Order: sequence, then structure tokens, then C-alpha cells
Amino acid sequence: MGINIAIDGPAGAGKSTIAKLIAAKKGYIYVDTGAMYRAMALFLLREGVDPSDTAAIDAKCQEADITIGYEDGAQIVYLNGENVNGCIRTEEVGKMASVSSPNPNVRKKLVELQQKLAADADVVMDGRDIGTCVLPNAQVKVFLTADSHERALRRYKELTGRGEACDLAVIEKDIIERDRQDMTRELSPLKQAEDAVLVDSSHMTVEEVAETVISLCEKKF
Ligand code: C5P
Repeated sequence: MGINIAIDGPAGAGKSTIAKLIAAKKGYIYVDTGAMYRAMALFLLREGVDPSDTAAIDAKCQEADITIGYEDGAQIVYLNGENVNGCIRTEEVGKMASVSSPNPNVRKKLVELQQKLAADADVVMDGRDIGTCVLPNAQVKVFLTADSHERALRRYKELTGRGEACDLAVIEKDIIERDRQDMTRELSPLKQAEDAVLVDSSHMTVEEVAETVISLCEKKF
């Protein structure tokens, strides 16, 4: 096993920003597992699968071949050979990912891919179940969170910064609902691993959070 750093936490906590910074600083590979669940959700949406039809999700997910590659250090997600990075960041895909990710067949397929990636390289992996299920032996585990209003505000600033119209209250409501689904599902729910360090970034800058995680890594390696 190489070096495994697991960063879990709720939607919009800043996991990917921090994981990318750590990966760049340490020369590790960044693995965004949410992007894999999003690619699967995109496939199911394109196939017109009803999110409440478990049998249809079971059958259809077998037809989705999800792989990842890297270009200039950035992760590219391929769905049946197509680069889908540009299609998976919508609210519609995020919601479908949250609804389809509890499915055992979806998880089995994607967890196998994630474990294989971590076996072959030094990785910083972010998601919901990395410290608890995917990489239980990760040397560093962080549970990164922030209060829901702060997370919604960050997302609101990101969207308005890109010129997209949005409503702060709706964003916060969606975030709370997505967390509820991720925390209450039966299989691999979002929760802090017993040996993870809790970092609440509500009143921290990105630099402060990155320094905190880097100092945890430096104590280990
Ligand atoms: O992190 P991101 O918002 O891209 O994740 C989208 C959805 O994918 C989450 O809401 C969650 O339902 C699912 N997910 C998961 N396990 C992971 C990563 C993401 O179930 N390790």
C-alpha cells in the first residue's frame, strides 16, 4: 500500500480544494470519488432511469464503464470512453448522484476502482466513505466539515462569481437534503471514521485548513 490520505465530509465543505492542494504539494495523485458517482448518475439520467427504480439502477449501472485518467495533473472521468468532466457539475447530476449512490451495485463497482487506484499509487482521496470503507487503513484521515449556512454561502459565491443566477436559501436547503440522504443511507453512510481528525472549516481560511492537514501528514511521514 502506498501513502493514502482520506478526506471525507459533507457537500461543499471544501474537500476537493484541500485535497488538490495537498496532492500538489506532496506530489500525490488526487482522486475525486464524487466525480465517479456523478458520472454514474449522468449515465442513469441519460438512460432515463427512474431514481426510485432500484431494479433499473441495478441493471443499468452494469453498462456504465467508468474510468479515470489525468491531464496536467487534473482528474478526467470517462464514461464509456467519453470525457464527461464538463457535464457532471450540475445540480441535477449532483442530486441524482446522491439518490443513486446508496445502491450496492453502484458502490461495489466504484469502490473497486477507488481501491485499485490507491493500491497502485500515493493518493489523496476525497468522498463520503473513504476513511470508513474504501481505505480503512489510510495513514491520515480527515473529516472536513463546516456549518451548512457557510457551505451554502461558499457555493453561492462560486456560482454568482461565474455569473450564474441562484438563490442562497435554495442552495442551503439542497445541501441539507443531500447531507441527510448521504448520512442516513444504509450502506457506507457519511460519518466520521473513529480514527479521523475532525476539522471544522466554518471560520478557517483555505490556507489554514491546508496547513492543518499538512501538519497531520507531516506527523505521519
Ligand atoms: O462530492 P460530490 O458532491 O461530487 O458527490 C456527489 C454525491 O456522490 C454525494 O452526494 C454522495 O451521494 C455520492 N458520493 C458517495 N460516496 C463518495 C463520494 C460521493 O456516496 N465516496
